[in-house]
Amino acid sequence: MSVPRKIMTIFGTRPGAIKMAPIITAMRSMPDQFEPVVVVTAQHRQLLDQVLNFFAIEPDFDLNTMQPRDSLSERTSKMLHHLDNVINAAQPDMILVVGDASTTLAAGLAAFYHKIPVGHVEAGLRTYDKYAPFPEEMNRHLTDVLSDLYFAPTTLSRDNLIAENHSVDNVFITGNTSIDALKYTVRADYHHPTLDAIPANHRILLMTMQRRENLGTPMKRVFHAIRDVVETNPDVELIYPVHPNPDVMAIADDLLGGRERIHLVEPLDLLDFHNFAARSYLILTDSGGIQEEAPALDKPVLVLRTKTERPEGVTAGTVRLVGTFPEEIQRAAFELLHDSKEYKKMAHAPNPFGDGNAATRILKVIKDYFNNEQ
Ligand code: UDP
Repeated sequence: MSVPRKIMTIFGTRPGAIKMAPIITAMRSMPDQFEPVVVVTAQHRQLLDQVLNFFAIEPDFDLNTMQPRDSLSERTSKMLHHLDNVINAAQPDMILVVGDASTTLAAGLAAFYHKIPVGHVEAGLRTYDKYAPFPEEMNRHLTDVLSDLYFAPTTLSRDNLIAENHSVDNVFITGNTSIDALKYTVRADYHHPTLDAIPANHRILLMTMQRRENLGTPMKRVFHAIRDVVETNPDVELIYPVHPNPDVMAIADDLLGGRERIHLVEPLDLLDFHNFAARSYLILTDSGGIQEEAPALDKPVLVLRTKTERPEGVTAGTVRLVGTFPEEIQRAAFELLHDSKEYKKMAHAPNPFGDGNAATRILKVIKDYFNNEQ
């Protein structure tokens, strides 16, 4: 019998944890084939821990060295230094990285220095604009240069990788593991005091906004626009889990705090967020992951950005890019609140991001990789 392969997963942010958790959970159920080693860099300490707790994942190595005001260079170099020690100690057979965080790039580079094969989960997303989103676009390009196996969520991400001369034999369309995660969280009998306090005939707009490039003026414009939408539609309630970045909290308090039918809440646990999303009417966000999850829950999304690395949602008709100027945001929100045909068209467009079985496909590819190697 062959020995289980030691697969080290390295991640550090909330979306990284959400997308890696279904793979770790699946590996745990196959102990004869895989020995998962979990490393977290804790790039986002509090938000990361919420997801780890939900999936009952205890990291084998927790680097916990990040300071909120670290520059990108400090962050990446600290991670690289610590990952060196972790890789030396654990000697994995393969390293899995996910998405486009600074952790992803640092882990890919550390693996390369140790000549350990790298699998990139959620490979091939691109805007082809070096600084948008920053630094994520360059993180994912560079990680793909360092990788050996590419787990592309969609046909488009596969095509991007092939156009960049990555070998077609190493690129696999798997769907996105974020859709797998919904199977663990969304429940019909879910309750929460914030939701219970909202009248049943009111419609919930769920908003998240936190991206670096939206801080300051764009964020203020958006909050003004949304406030007007809530004020002019008496059956609409806004729920906004405010990111713990102090700059975001200050703007949110100033423009949205203490207003009727506007609920500013702490960042929600994954279980809560997914169930809030399932209960909402419409989602407004500058997040990447939520653009994938919402269509799986049949919710239209207005994306508060001018570019997306997930154009599949735009093509499929599940998301619309509305930017950060009030006119377009309000026009789109008004249409979806008052034109039920348009709403249904968007809500029921097919989800291009996967069927919830991405983790199984990824592990099959990894098994084949090692079998072919023997
Ligand atoms: N999310 C969450 N609680 C919240 C807001 C978002 O658990 O209050 C989840 C959401 O379901 C999605 C992920 O966090 O899976 C998105 O994270 P984020 O917006 O930080 O990053 P991005 O997706 O833009 O990389």
